[in-house]
Amino acid sequence: MDPETVEFPNLPERLIGLGELADNLWWSWQPSARMLFKMLDRQAWKESGHNPDKMLREMPSEILASAAANDDYLRNYDVVLSQFYRYLSDKSCRFLNSFPCDPNTFAVAYFSAEYGLHRSLPFYAGGLGFLAGDHIKECSDLGVPLVAVGFMYPQGYLHQHIREDGWQENIHESINREAAPISRVLDNEGRQLVVRVPFIDPAIHVGVWKVNVGRISLYLLDTDIENNDPWNRGISARLYIGDIEQRLRQEIVLGIGGAEVLEILGIKHYLMHLNEGHAAFAILERIRDRIQEGMPYPQAIEQVRNTTVFTTHTPVPAGHDVIPFHLMEKHFHSYWPALGLDRDAFLQQGIHPEQPHAGFNVTAFALRMSAYCNGVSKRHGEVSRQMWQSLWPGASESEVPVDHITNGVHVPTWIEPRMKRLFDTYLGPEWLTDHDNPLFWELIDKIPNEALWRTHYWLKIKLIDAVRERSRLRWAGDRVSPSIVIAGGTLLDPSVLTLGFARRFATYKRAELIFYDMERLKKLLNDRWRPIQIIFAGKAHPADDPGKQIIQRVFNAARDPETGGRIAFVEDYGEQLAQYMVHGVDIWLNNPLPPMEASGTSGMKAALNGVPQLSIMDGWWIEGFNGKNGWAFGHKEVDGNRDVADAAELYRILEEELIPMYYNVSDDGVPLNWVNVMKNSIKSNAAKFSARRMVKEYIEKFYAKGLESVLLHQNEG
Ligand SMILES: *Cc1c(COP(=O)(O)O)cnc(C)c1O
Repeated sequence: MDPETVEFPNLPERLIGLGELADNLWWSWQPSARMLFKMLDRQAWKESGHNPDKMLREMPSEILASAAANDDYLRNYDVVLSQFYRYLSDKSCRFLNSFPCDPNTFAVAYFSAEYGLHRSLPFYAGGLGFLAGDHIKECSDLGVPLVAVGFMYPQGYLHQHIREDGWQENIHESINREAAPISRVLDNEGRQLVVRVPFIDPAIHVGVWKVNVGRISLYLLDTDIENNDPWNRGISARLYIGDIEQRLRQEIVLGIGGAEVLEILGIKHYLMHLNEGHAAFAILERIRDRIQEGMPYPQAIEQVRNTTVFTTHTPVPAGHDVIPFHLMEKHFHSYWPALGLDRDAFLQQGIHPEQPHAGFNVTAFALRMSAYCNGVSKRHGEVSRQMWQSLWPGASESEVPVDHITNGVHVPTWIEPRMKRLFDTYLGPEWLTDHDNPLFWELIDKIPNEALWRTHYWLKIKLIDAVRERSRLRWAGDRVSPSIVIAGGTLLDPSVLTLGFARRFATYKRAELIFYDMERLKKLLNDRWRPIQIIFAGKAHPADDPGKQIIQRVFNAARDPETGGRIAFVEDYGEQLAQYMVHGVDIWLNNPLPPMEASGTSGMKAALNGVPQLSIMDGWWIEGFNGKNGWAFGHKEVDGNRDVADAAELYRILEEELIPMYYNVSDDGVPLNWVNVMKNSIKSNAAKFSARRMVKEYIEKFYAKGLESVLLHQNEG
């Protein structure tokens, strides 16, 4: 069952490796590999949306032939390809010493409903997806033997347009499967592999796709195939469908279907890591396998528990799926007999003792069935232990077996290439290889202030150019009104202190907090000598009307002449815009309602690139803030509505600390104290909030221990 060999008909023999390169997302975090595609034809690269797969398919053979005859191009090509092949062949499994490296056996099967990998694969909604994407990229870099499972969302592109009146419109664009960096997994007859989700009645089938993420294979499940009836074809159409039954079907497909796909492909794995509860039903398949081999139920559960890792991301009870019993019965009535259970014993596994009649609580089930559970920051660990305490009757809060592993970001993906070159120069070229070593980052002080500032300033101009270009295209192409163009950021000024606020527009993120006292804010925006400007971006969930209302108000503020063109709302937030923003704004603003931000990761991306935080004490920033690497507020608990207090602190910090520091520049125009904060931001956060630190923690705390228990077992057996 070899994956489809992708055809690039115009590719000359001498450049045949470009096809392989295009087919592995490794290029997305290797500037030198990206350059290879860009050098072929800059315009085509841009028009493809930085998607080499698409670009190579459409590229005229003359361009490729001329590259194949260009010595300079070929030298670069040979270097990048040799790096690529070396990367792929290094299967060292350095971090799981006890693990026998064998190509069909994996230590970990990682399940997630979304993956944020690159703009050409729109299989994400937000932070959870980027965390999963960064996790598997880092596992690839570290050589962790892991296989990943997720969904293919054929209608994953949800473009955001803001109407004249400020209301968000969602434009669904179907993905062109042939032009995305994915390939069909084929069966023995050379057709796309189709797998039936076992024991689920009525039947559901999934087609299987594969994405190469460096050394990691990510298998994607697609229900939009002919074998399914129309109702089932839409199961994987898009992320997080509101209808609870359709969501249950999604979870059945991801968990039970995903586990079956691995089984059919002959991919053995010892541990399972569930990124949030959406794939929790995969646990059932692991139990069923053991029952089928004749193991008694209690022993099967024990073995599965000792090899299951569950990461929870949601700090509010309402965010967890609770499936009504009648729906569980409808879809699982053929399943529980396969486990040797009756209805009640089966449903009992998902009962939350505080709401025993509410339904089957998927998270409660996953927590019970996993020996290794964690929240995604120190604070979120505490919140989770409080929230789930009743699942462990008699345990005190600190005894609740939910640990924490703070999130991190994949450094090669999120470091801006020009900033990377600056680090190469002053930290030495080894810094990237050893980037979770905090000692390296002490060398940040060697970077001349002026050099860091100029690099940052260049990135700010690049961001503002990109924002203006988007507005220009909307104006010229869609004929939108000039006031929309202004709201879209055409009046932004690179010399002005620029705040960035970009994330999903869920109400708890409080995008409007800074508007709390509009008169006070207008004074800051319109200050003649020391103005500020704010760039907003983010989508509301299509079903979230309160979130859309916030966007509408922000948008209307942006086109109100009284805010002086100093507020921008940039449409269609996604991976590409996120890159521009975390690299190019001066300060990263984040003020969710504590303790609702489980971790947050966009601020980590900013910090790595020398963009300090202005953030409320919640999520990762409680661990990140050290008094000199940015600003923090909201330390105190507040009863009831805390907007007043939080807004007051926000204004005070801006007026008394941030603005004066930013505009206090040396004779050659460098804000020295500010640059010092930038340096501290990089120095203290880059290693600590890297995906490398995070994955190593998963290995040490969970993967290695789980594996030990398996290997011990095997030796006994
Ligand atoms: C990193 C990232 C996120 C997650 O950001 P939060 O800080 O969790 O809000 C969301 N969307 C995109 C496009 C990202 O790159």
